[in-house]
Amino acid sequence: MNTPSTPRARTVRCPQCGKESVWNAANPYRPFCSARCKQIDLGAWASGQYRVPAAPSDSEPEAPGNADSLA
Ligand SMILES: [Zn+2]
Repeated sequence: MNTPSTPRARTVRCPQCGKESVWNAANPYRPFCSARCKQIDLGAWASGQYRVPAAPSDSEPEAPGNADSLA
């Protein structure tokens, strides 16, 4: 059989967002398409809803009045 370039990658539908996700070793989040969808599903399953922990992480410190520019 002379088949065209048939991708061996098996794809499934992400139960979270419905997008196509690759079902192989490269996708550790299967059957989800991404870590986000898996987190959402696990979070929803565990606590009933997905919540993002508001950690007091030091993001970009806003310094109004800082005249020192990156030249
Ligand atoms: Zn998804």
